[in-house]
Amino acid sequence: MKAVLILSGGLDSTTLLCDLLDQGYEVSALTFDYHQKHKKEIRCAKATCEKLKIPQKIADISVLGDLAPSSLTRTELDVPEGHYAEESMKQTVVPNRNMVFLSLAASYAIGIGAQELYYAAHSGDHAIYPDCRPVFVSAMETALHLCDWKDLTLRVPYVNLTKGDIVKKGLALGVDYSLTWSCYKGGERPCGKCGACTERHEAFEEAGARDPLDN
Ligand SMILES: [Zn+2]
Repeated sequence: MKAVLILSGGLDSTTLLCDLLDQGYEVSALTFDYHQKHKKEIRCAKATCEKLKIPQKIADISVLGDLAPSSLTRTELDVPEGHYAEESMKQTVVPNRNMVFLSLAASYAIGIGAQELYYAAHSGDHAIYPDCRPVFVSAMETALHLCDWKDLTLRVPYVNLTKGDIVKKGLALGVDYSLTWSCYKGGERPCGKCGACTERHEAFEEAGARDPLDN
């Protein structure tokens, strides 16, 4: 079965890539450059695809950074520190990012004859990111069935898993987490303080494992 996966280079989508390969899927990865400060995640996604010999497209949609204000894309806005549950983390929302991603990914998937489109939203995203919630997923699933003569099915298999569950699954699959990136701040080393770093730390703790980026 042919599938397209939106691969950011973070923990969740990298785990899902290995999960799909383990299930025997023929996966094509699509990575977006939306003018995020943390470009290192794109380099990680590329390194993973090279290592696993997966075809990858990196789509430049940096205009999203201009159209949609967010602390992830604007240098004048600081990435907030602390836990994801805090109100301040809403500054990390890129308005409607996943609908843009899924829409472009659907065009790509239909174009290459893939029957399924995957993205790795998980339950920890629900509080802050409306475009990761089950109700959004369900609406997009309906839209993607209707958007073309060819049928495309949206699959979001981690939508009810925690990030800790995902890391546990990934470790069992042998995912190389040294080739993943989470920190939002754009440095060469994780800052250890932003929401993405905090969440990553908790996920490894929950999985009872050491993060290879903690050196
Ligand atoms: Zn960070």
